[in-house]
Amino acid sequence: MPVTAAKGTAEKDTTAKDVPGKDSGARVVDTARQDDLLAKARDSQLGNYKPPAFVLTRGSGPHVWDAAGRRYLDFSGGIAVTSVGHANSRLARAIADQANTLVHTSNLFYNERAIQLAHALTKRTGFAKAFFCNSGAEANEAMIKLSRRWHHDHGAPERKKIIAMNSSFHGRTMGALAVTGQPKYHVGMEPMMGGVVHVPFNDVAALESAVDAQTAAIIVEPIQAEGGIAVPADDYLRRVRALADARGVLLLLDEVQTGVGRTGTFLAADKYGVRADACSLAKGIAGGVPLGVMLVDKSREDGLPPGSHATTFGGNPIACRAALEVLSILDDDDVLGNVARASSLARARMETWVGRFKVISEIRGFGLLLGARVAAGVDALALNGKMRDEGLLLSIAGGDVLRISPSLNIGASDLQAGLDTMERVLAVASQ
Ligand SMILES: *Cc1c(COP(=O)(O)O)cnc(C)c1O
Repeated sequence: MPVTAAKGTAEKDTTAKDVPGKDSGARVVDTARQDDLLAKARDSQLGNYKPPAFVLTRGSGPHVWDAAGRRYLDFSGGIAVTSVGHANSRLARAIADQANTLVHTSNLFYNERAIQLAHALTKRTGFAKAFFCNSGAEANEAMIKLSRRWHHDHGAPERKKIIAMNSSFHGRTMGALAVTGQPKYHVGMEPMMGGVVHVPFNDVAALESAVDAQTAAIIVEPIQAEGGIAVPADDYLRRVRALADARGVLLLLDEVQTGVGRTGTFLAADKYGVRADACSLAKGIAGGVPLGVMLVDKSREDGLPPGSHATTFGGNPIACRAALEVLSILDDDDVLGNVARASSLARARMETWVGRFKVISEIRGFGLLLGARVAAGVDALALNGKMRDEGLLLSIAGGDVLRISPSLNIGASDLQAGLDTMERVLAVASQ
């Protein structure tokens, strides 16, 4: 299906499911409705984001539509979140059914869906236990707390230090922010949580000299996603695992972005044959419904005893039901097989960009977490804006990488169409 959402064009859409009665026939570009929403947004939403001037109202598969009726092919996938596509009908039915059954229980009581999801995730990954929260940052907070508390309860209360990586991203809450190795996110938010040391990513020697008798844990992303889709040496993660074992510290893997099939295996760590002491998931796990997960290895499963940690919404039945449905869809539709096929198709085309387009210097990533790094001096944001004008949504990673992270079940023709758009824009920009 070609991308036809060039700026200002109307899109006839036969799968419209907007407000009943509003959109039965061909769509027209209705900028008045959109302008009204944008004015209200400027008037009432906090200014901590800087989105482009359109308002998304609905989606279908790999596409989204704005309030003016324009269609976009979504290669951002909601920042690697919409793992089974927009408005996936199976996911929608599961969420609706759960909403009609039981929405919330709090952590005071067991609920069926959280139990089923914990069972499914532990069986799938080999971790012993699961803890549920509501975001990636919260899952990382849980890992930090678990590592300190585990040592506290096992005769080493002096082990408080968390070693993290430069250019890492772990979220915006204060603990996750403290381990995030990007100083720009710390500006004006100090004092940071203490006991955090940063070392260069993909540098085992630096890590070795930073780990000491006060160290509780090492936190690392298997692939630095927000940091620019930085892939470490093949043996890096295995050597970090060995170091953690030798020095008695926990290895915390942040798989918030790389997990749930994004890089081609269910966990990116599977690719490297490494098991963490604890691992965080969020983004794609529930197909767009907010859910964070901490998975914990058997050896650390007593890390957070009763009363030591909690969240009111954690294990929310709708979020857990959504995640169960996502897991079923991954299996039933061989979505990881699709990731492998789509990835090799995309990579093969993208590799030709280096050399062919002078604005592109390097191709990075695995699975459907792929990046085209722009050459020095090239404005990635401006390029991204041009793609958007052509009806293609991308996101930027690390300031200079055009990130492709579409739905994991994206079809070959939609993928090719998006790559066509990218090539058109890159060709013009390279002239
Ligand atoms: C997005 C992300 C987070 C933060 O997740 P939120 O849900 O935004 O809190 C943490 N770690 C990594 C690797 C991420 O990509």
